[in-house]
Amino acid sequence: MKLSNYFLPVLKENPKEAQIVSHRLMLRAGMIQQSSAGIYSWLPLGLKVLNKIERIVREEQDKAGALEVKMPTIQPAEIWKESGRYDVYGLEMLRIKDRHNRDMLYGPTNEEQVTDICRSHIKSYRSLPLNLYHIQWKFRDEVRPRFGVMRGREFLMKDAYSFDLSAENAKVAYNKMFVSYLKTFARMELTAIPMEADTGPIGGDMSHEFIILADTGESGVCFHKDWLETDLIADVDYFADLEPIINKFTKIYARTEEKHNPNDCPVKKEDLVEKRGVEVGHIFYFGTKYSETMGATVSGPDGNSLELHMGSYGIGVSRLVGAIIEASHDDKGIIWPEAVSPFDIAIINLKPGNETVDNMSETLYQTGLLNKHDCLYDDSDESAGTKLAVMDLIGIPWQLVVGPRGLKQNIIELKHRKSGRVLEISPEMAIEFISKQGNFIMPDTSFLRGTKK
Ligand code: ATP
Ligand code: MG
Repeated sequence: MKLSNYFLPVLKENPKEAQIVSHRLMLRAGMIQQSSAGIYSWLPLGLKVLNKIERIVREEQDKAGALEVKMPTIQPAEIWKESGRYDVYGLEMLRIKDRHNRDMLYGPTNEEQVTDICRSHIKSYRSLPLNLYHIQWKFRDEVRPRFGVMRGREFLMKDAYSFDLSAENAKVAYNKMFVSYLKTFARMELTAIPMEADTGPIGGDMSHEFIILADTGESGVCFHKDWLETDLIADVDYFADLEPIINKFTKIYARTEEKHNPNDCPVKKEDLVEKRGVEVGHIFYFGTKYSETMGATVSGPDGNSLELHMGSYGIGVSRLVGAIIEASHDDKGIIWPEAVSPFDIAIINLKPGNETVDNMSETLYQTGLLNKHDCLYDDSDESAGTKLAVMDLIGIPWQLVVGPRGLKQNIIELKHRKSGRVLEISPEMAIEFISKQGNFIMPDTSFLRGTKK
């Protein structure tokens, strides 16, 4: 993508309405635009990140054996009346009437909808287990929408729903999602700590919230300090016995504020860490609650009717965009983990119109594209200072800086956003660097002409 053809409305000033760093940076980087309270348009740069996060979530759900569907955003009130939640849900639910005066609603979640699909089609125990998920916009008329996409009213969620014949089988489904969440967040370079959570109004007896640490987080969390050293990258096979793996994680103490009781805590005071965090995922097992009220039964092996055991599993896909920024930024801007970065690499032409610089920049850009890198080529007329600042603001992990003075000395600067390292390399090395497919690797330092911080 050439910057001259792109739509990147960056802001120089800090927007006053933004209270936390992720909201501030998302507005400044031209990722989103507020439409009304808690409702946003996603601009090209923001949407790219959202899509990359969505893709990772989808890949891990698919690997765990969940099947993707797409349920509507607008639901009929009837199914919610059947489950008994229509009256209970309260003001968070946006209720609508259609032209025939029928009660509709903008879905805040999809338990009813998915149970309706299941009861229509799943008649025999032989069709189980089943786990259906979708990635769809939700609407919740939050009392206090705030912090940008972190607590929106309209937000993108991945929600999965598992159906099983028994509580024991449902635990297997639950464990698969548990591991899938650890893998999903690890791919985004996030340490998400699973915490035993209250099951709340949904009821049931098993629930974990996945929380990443951030000072601005809305949840208070308490956990054993070992969590800070735990390597959560669980490279496990989804179809192995997951129980021991999960036990390994859950035996280390971690609780949300609500569940933590200081008078009855197994962790010594000096080993206990109290921090704040952001909830990025939540999984529940709630048994037969919906299958009972909505009549979702199957015939068992001996023809008897059995109620389905269900679980639901949410990930805040749009919240993750903000949460990742909370976890990874500095005073210059965003530092994207490479897996979710809107672009893999930037080529910054410091002097458009200068033939040598133009040719070199264009060569690097075309070579990058040819080797399947998502490249952003800054060919604009801004000052050098502005160009460099914008690339840091929008957090591009690798940047090649091409200028007339450098080229005279046979130098192109390679900048690594995360470490802040700037290497001076030859144009040949720059071409070689961008020619490699897959993840970029810092060039061998013995070939460097110089290194500066
Ligand atoms: P919270 O306690 O933060 O309101 P919740 O318990 O209501 O969350 P769930 O119903 O479990 O959330 O939804 C699943 C996931 O959706 C959450 O873990 C969170 O990441 C995301 N989410 C929930 N509400 C919002 C919101 N208003 N804006 C953005 N993401 C949200
Ligand atoms: Mg909520």
